[in-house]
Amino acid sequence: MDTSIIKEGPAFPEVRQYFQDRISNFENIYYQLLPEDLIMQSVEMGEGILSDTGALVINTGEFTGRSPKDRFIVRDDLTAGSVNWNEFNQPVEGQYFDLIFRKMVQYLNDKKLWVRDCYVCAAQNFRLSLRVVNENPCCNLFAYNMFLRPKDEEVFYRDVDWQLIHLPHFFADAKVDGVNRKNFVILNFTEKIILIGGTQYTGEIKKAVFSILNFILPRNHNVLTMHCAANAGKEGDTALFFGLSGTGKTTLSTDPLRRLIGDDEHGWNDDFIFNMEGGCYAKTINLIRRKEPEIFNAIRFGAIAENVHFLEDTNSIDFSSSAITENTRASYPIDYISNAVKPSIGGIPENIFFLTADAYGVLPPISRLSVAQAIYHFISGYTAKVAGTEEGIASPTPTFSACFSAPFIPLHPTCYAEMLGNKIKAHGIKVWMVNTGWFGGQYGTGERMKLEYTRAMISAAIEGRLDMENCQSHPSFGMMIPSSCPGVPSEILNPELAWKNKQEYYNTANQLAGYFIKNFEKYCVSAGIEIVNAGPKILNE
Ligand code: ATP
Ligand code: MN
Repeated sequence: MDTSIIKEGPAFPEVRQYFQDRISNFENIYYQLLPEDLIMQSVEMGEGILSDTGALVINTGEFTGRSPKDRFIVRDDLTAGSVNWNEFNQPVEGQYFDLIFRKMVQYLNDKKLWVRDCYVCAAQNFRLSLRVVNENPCCNLFAYNMFLRPKDEEVFYRDVDWQLIHLPHFFADAKVDGVNRKNFVILNFTEKIILIGGTQYTGEIKKAVFSILNFILPRNHNVLTMHCAANAGKEGDTALFFGLSGTGKTTLSTDPLRRLIGDDEHGWNDDFIFNMEGGCYAKTINLIRRKEPEIFNAIRFGAIAENVHFLEDTNSIDFSSSAITENTRASYPIDYISNAVKPSIGGIPENIFFLTADAYGVLPPISRLSVAQAIYHFISGYTAKVAGTEEGIASPTPTFSACFSAPFIPLHPTCYAEMLGNKIKAHGIKVWMVNTGWFGGQYGTGERMKLEYTRAMISAAIEGRLDMENCQSHPSFGMMIPSSCPGVPSEILNPELAWKNKQEYYNTANQLAGYFIKNFEKYCVSAGIEIVNAGPKILNE
C-alpha cells in the first residue's frame, strides 16, 4: 500500500505514544485520516468498490444488522444498582471485560490500526470526546461520517472521555469469555471503554455510543435522551420523530421543505434539543431518486453504501436488490443534506410524531394523542414486523420496544417516560401517532401508506391544517382522527372506513389491542392507573 500520501495530522506523535504505551508491537497506525485516504485504502485493500456516484460500497460480512442479544454492560459499583438489567442490558463481570480486553490488545499486535478522535453531542455543554480504534479503514470512515468531526485545533491527543475498540475479525470464545457468542458489544461505564468484536455491522458502533449516552446524560445532566429524528421549519419550529427501525425517522426527517437537525439520536435539556451525531445512516432498500432525492444524492463520494448490489455489469447501485439483506444502508456526514441545521440544535419541539409501521392496518395514518395516551404509547413503543425484515418472520408480528429504544436504554423506561411526559405537559406539545405502515387491511391485503401522503399529513399537522374540529376517536385505541387533510383522500384517514370488511377490521383491532394490553402488564404499577387507562380497550363484538 502506498502510504506516502497519508496525512498523519498534528496529534500523530502523541497518539502513537499513547498506543505504544499500551500495545507494544503494532505495525502501523493511521491517525485521523481524511475520508479520501480511507477510501483509497479500502479500495486498495479490496474491502470496498466505488460506485458510479463515488460512494464506497462495502460488504459487512456475516452480520448485516445489529445483534441486540449480544450486548453487555459491565456490572460494577456504578452500574449494579442503576442499570435496568434485562434481555438487552445483560450483565458481565469485570474479570471477563479484563480478559477480553487483554485478548483484543494481544490480537492487535503486528496489526495496523486506524484511530479517529471525534466527539458526540452538538451542544457544547454535553459534548463527550471519543477515540475510535478500528482494524479496517472503512469502519474508521463510518466513524468519520457518523460522529462529530473536531476542527484540527480541537483534536484531543491523550485526553479523550471515552474509547471504542472495534475489531470485527476478533472473536470471543463464549465458553471462557463470559459472553454468549463470538460477537459482542461490551459497555464499561467505569473504565469508559466500549469493546466491539466479531461483527462488522457498522450500526453497532453508533448504537453502542448511543447506549452510553442514554445512561450518562439523564443521570448526570438531567437531559432526556431520545431515539428520534428532528427537523425544523422556516420559523425554527422543531418537530421530533420517534419510532423503531424502519418506521420512517430518517426518511421523514429528511424533508426538502424542512431543515434536518438529525435522523436518529437526540438529547433534550430544559431549553433545546441537540443531535448527538454528525451523520445519517439511511436505509436504502427500494430507494428512488424521485421520492427521496436528498438521501439519494447524499450517496456520493465520502458516503458508505453497505451490503448493496450493483446492476449487472455496472457500478450503479441496484437499490431494489435485497440479495444480501433487506437492511441495506448508507452512511454520510449530515452536511451531505443541503438544508441541515448547523450546529445540529433546535428549540423546544412544538410537535412530536410517534411513527409506527402497523402491519395490522389498525392504527390511523395520523391521529392526535392526549398526554396520557402519549406516555402510554411512548412506553409501549409499538411497531410491527413483516416478512423479510427479519429472518423467520412471515406474517405481521407485533414488536414492543420501550421508549422506541429498548436495546439502547440502560435505565428503566419510566425514567425516560417521566421526563418526556413532564416536557410535553410543561410546553403543551402536540403529540401525533403516524402509521407509516398499512391501511385498508393488514399486510397482504392492505397497502403500505404512500410516502407522499404521510409527508402531506405531517406537514398538515405541523401547519395546523388537519381538520380536528370534526375529528372522531378511534373506537378501541381512543386517539383523535382528523376528518380531512389537504392532499390526502379522506377515505384513507379512518381505518374503519378504509377496510372493506368491517368485521375483520374489528377482529384485527381487538387482536392488536390484546397485544398492547399484554405487553403493558409489566408497566402497570410503575406507570400508574391514568396511563394504563389511556391504552386500548378490547371491544365486545
Ligand atoms: P432506523 O432506526 O433503522 O434508522 P428509520 O426509522 O430511520 O429506521 P427509515 O430509514 O426512514 O427508518 O426507513 C423507512 C423506510 O420505509 C424507507 O425505506 C422508506 O422509503 C419506506 N417507506 C415506505 N412508505 C413510507 C411511508 N409512508 N413513510 C415513511 N417511510 C416509508
Ligand atoms: Mn434511521
